[in-house]
Amino acid sequence: MQEGGREAGSKAGCQCSGCGTNGEDTFLNPTPMLDELESGPWPSFVSGFKELAERTKKPMLRGVLDQLEYSYNTKMGYWKGGLVTVDGYGAGIITRYSMIKDKIPEAAEFHTMRIQPAPGLHYTTEMLRELCDIWEKYGSGIITLHGQTGDIMLQGIEQDKVQECFDELNQRGWDLGGAGAGMRTGVSCIGPGRCENACYDNLKLHLNALKHFSGQVHRPEWNYKLKFKFSGCPNDCTNAIMRSDLAVIGTWKDAIQVDQAEVKAWIDEKGVDALVNEVINNCPTKAISLKDGGMEIETRDCVRCMHCLNAMPKALAPGKERGISLLMGGKNTLKVGVNMGSLIIPFMKMESDEDIEEFLELIEEIIDWWDDAGLDHERIGETIERVGLKQFLEGIGREPDINMVSRPRDNPYFKAKY
Ligand code: SF4
Ligand code: SF4
Repeated sequence: MQEGGREAGSKAGCQCSGCGTNGEDTFLNPTPMLDELESGPWPSFVSGFKELAERTKKPMLRGVLDQLEYSYNTKMGYWKGGLVTVDGYGAGIITRYSMIKDKIPEAAEFHTMRIQPAPGLHYTTEMLRELCDIWEKYGSGIITLHGQTGDIMLQGIEQDKVQECFDELNQRGWDLGGAGAGMRTGVSCIGPGRCENACYDNLKLHLNALKHFSGQVHRPEWNYKLKFKFSGCPNDCTNAIMRSDLAVIGTWKDAIQVDQAEVKAWIDEKGVDALVNEVINNCPTKAISLKDGGMEIETRDCVRCMHCLNAMPKALAPGKERGISLLMGGKNTLKVGVNMGSLIIPFMKMESDEDIEEFLELIEEIIDWWDDAGLDHERIGETIERVGLKQFLEGIGREPDINMVSRPRDNPYFKAKY
């Protein structure tokens, strides 16, 4: 018997447009509140849930829909956390136990397994098929690609199936991502794999960092969480500046490369007014001017916002002296509000294995300092803000630099705040 005296399964008829039952004998219970979410022009997660539940006949999916309907009626959430791990790990599974399992026993447990993504977030179809087959065997079949954490989120599994599911995934080369007060799952954009703007091999650096900190991903041991994101250029497609404690962003030191023949071709096609209105006037620091029928960029004034390079990708390219900037402290709300990362290391070369080694040593020093100076549940940017940049730089043995600015940007270039 279900909440409100309903039987499991119903002939009341599902009115949704997604599950294809046409109101006939359905596996699902009536969910009039949820059905409202299927009426807009956008894809509805409710239709997706219903379709999957009707196809797989998994009771936990029916239970989750019933619990959500109950939540919408009572305006309360009924999930609570707990602890589930697999052998040798202390993280990677986010537990969800129902507080109303007496009313809706089918939704008693609905845990999420966080799975490490591949650097660049690209997969073969074979990998994805394997992942889906294993997940349908042990879990609900619901996957989020990719969650805010960057992980592949396998949502909906019961505790007694977690170990077996993990073992099978692990045999196929998948690993759990981070959770709790440890190193979290890193994320990188596609970088040099497909993108001409990439200023370093962020996929390689991501992989090296992942291997280096694997122990701290699986066994949380710090004050709080720490997140890496690796963007190949200042377009910052991984949203690193807003959403990571350690934002590694590709940049360049010298002048933007200008191909004047391509500038001319651009002007021939779109007109000089378009150059002025769409490119020159939109440069935030007025670093660009018209000269001799072409364009000139005052390198000293360029803040590497990427606008002109995005507008004229054939004519302009990042400079030749490339590397990374490290920004620290980006995070969402938590205790002291939303922060964007501050520029802590203005430039580091990132070409050789030695450069990668030097980078990882620097991160180790930063983490050691934070482990000593940080308070419980304090993100690294909050610790720096509390004790001051001077203390932090002394702690990691770095000299202050005029380029260590606290507000490299007012807005992220691409991503809206959410
Ligand atoms: Fe390309 Fe830069 Fe976006 Fe990475 S961040 S995908 S390098 S534009
Ligand atoms: Fe101006 Fe941005 Fe282009 Fe630099 S990258 S010249 S700041 S538009």
